[in-house]
Amino acid sequence: MVALSFEQARACVLREVGSARSLLNESLLRTEQVPALEAAGRVLAEEITADRDYPPFPRSARDGFAVRAVDVPGELRVIAEVRAGEVYRGVVGAGEAVEIMTGAPLPDGADAVVMVEHAERSGGHVRVTRAIEAGENFNAQGVEAKHGSTVLSMGRRLGFAEVALLAMVGRIGASECVKVYRRPRVAILPTGDEIVEAGRSPKPFQIRNSNAWSMAVQVARAGGDPHILPIARDNCESTRGLIEQGLTHDLLLLSGGVSAGKYDIVERVLADLGAKFFFDRVLIQPGQPLVFGTASDKFFFGLPGNPASTMVTFEVFARAAVELLGGANEAPLPLLQARLSQDVRHKPGLTRFLPAQLSADGSTVALEPWQGSGDVNSLARANAFLVTEADRESWSAGDMIRVLLK
Ligand code: AMP
Ligand code: MG
Repeated sequence: MVALSFEQARACVLREVGSARSLLNESLLRTEQVPALEAAGRVLAEEITADRDYPPFPRSARDGFAVRAVDVPGELRVIAEVRAGEVYRGVVGAGEAVEIMTGAPLPDGADAVVMVEHAERSGGHVRVTRAIEAGENFNAQGVEAKHGSTVLSMGRRLGFAEVALLAMVGRIGASECVKVYRRPRVAILPTGDEIVEAGRSPKPFQIRNSNAWSMAVQVARAGGDPHILPIARDNCESTRGLIEQGLTHDLLLLSGGVSAGKYDIVERVLADLGAKFFFDRVLIQPGQPLVFGTASDKFFFGLPGNPASTMVTFEVFARAAVELLGGANEAPLPLLQARLSQDVRHKPGLTRFLPAQLSADGSTVALEPWQGSGDVNSLARANAFLVTEADRESWSAGDMIRVLLK
């Protein structure tokens, strides 16, 4: 099988999971009702519509004076005051103004609000020194959303602003529920004869299972429901039995056993189970021997076992699958650009994801010292990954470079 570039492999994951989802919509994506207050972080499985116009009335955006734009500059008679939470039922006529507060409804007749900073009040009059356009400093009724229009569509993950919107349109109350997609059940299968459960005392030549834990946190963060399976030993019977168990979930993530070593048997066992492979090598580091395919109608990823490889390949490939299987419409990578605070060189050919520190203001990035793919310490210290392009060899301090948030 040919090795794919990072971009090709990512496009493949998005395409395959995306198209399976649209074919099998009903069986692949189940829904449930949850209390609206508990819906944060979940993915909406219904459309939310506006229960009235937003804003529901022409709403002043400033403290100042409601006027007719044609009357200013000039001296106007102040005929009333309107505060937020009140309404002035009269009409603003020629040469008149109503003192108005932010959030109050614009009175009939007025078509603009003069900011208090641009007005001089004296007694029952106000003097406005500058001109204003009709429409300034208020939001017309319905400009943010029209009654009945969709404000949140299916497939949207509910963050803080989305929950505010639910509250705004009256969908958060003591008994209000919203329909969300069920969290996909994601099996996590660690492999390796040297791996022992994290709660056990390892012999000097054994390694505690840390990957299952990083993956469980990553799965949960992506909206999945992680199920950690027992450690598969590096023999066909043990691995096959546990893979079969893993394939009863919505997605199977394996760690380890996909390199070229004599006891790396994961691919062979999957092939024996009739798996279809989309790719088994990606030109990235860490994480080259990365396997993605389907078996028994379920997607699986064989992530390389080195802790950095497992974490990085999850973030850039498997995370998108968990999000899409969880009903999300899109699964973008949180990439940004920052200025390098040091020179960086690498051997072209691979897209590298290197532990890095993004400065507190997000503007500059530096490499975090690390000892290679097994160095969990470095990954824990890092707050981001610096992402090198495969076809470029060197960057100088001051150059912009891609950064993936951790
Ligand atoms: P593998 O991909 O199976 O060749 O494993 C590569 C390296 O990752 C080896 O040094 C393993 O000991 C280590 N490793 C594999 N699985 C885990 C795990 N679950 N937790 C921590 N380290 C692991
Ligand atoms: Mg192994």
